[in-house]
Amino acid sequence: MSDRARRVHEHSRSLLRSAGVWRCRELDHICAAVEQHTGRQLVRSATHLDAATVHGAVVRTADIDYVIVESQTSPDHQQHILLHELGHLLCDHSDQAHGLLTRSTYTDPLEYEAEVIASLLGQHLRRAADPLHLQPVDPQVHRLLDSFGLLGR
Ligand SMILES: [Zn+2]
Repeated sequence: MSDRARRVHEHSRSLLRSAGVWRCRELDHICAAVEQHTGRQLVRSATHLDAATVHGAVVRTADIDYVIVESQTSPDHQQHILLHELGHLLCDHSDQAHGLLTRSTYTDPLEYEAEVIASLLGQHLRRAADPLHLQPVDPQVHRLLDSFGLLGR
């Protein structure tokens, strides 16, 4: 592991400890802790996204953080996408892209950090055993995703 990767792992572990989700075994517990950490309501949604562009996104409105997950993939993959987006929220990457975060490339330091958090959180979850509680996407958020060209056809 490179020095940079080691630093990101150490930082991520201490962030997960301070947020109370280190070695957390329940997805609902993680989501509740993220809400505590951000002080904002978290809504988990699924819709069909443009897979060439994104598998997940966070849309922040005035009082709600919508985590959007690809609907047409496996529960294991959906869980990983969800954890990755929660990583962005825990790291407070919210000033990126004016409230709309999209998955790009893992060479991007922010994407790498979110990916490390997703894998650390995923290690302790029972694989695909927890319901993901993904709702249909809010119409306002759906329009926003559409306007950014992120919806699948
Ligand atoms: Zn990302």
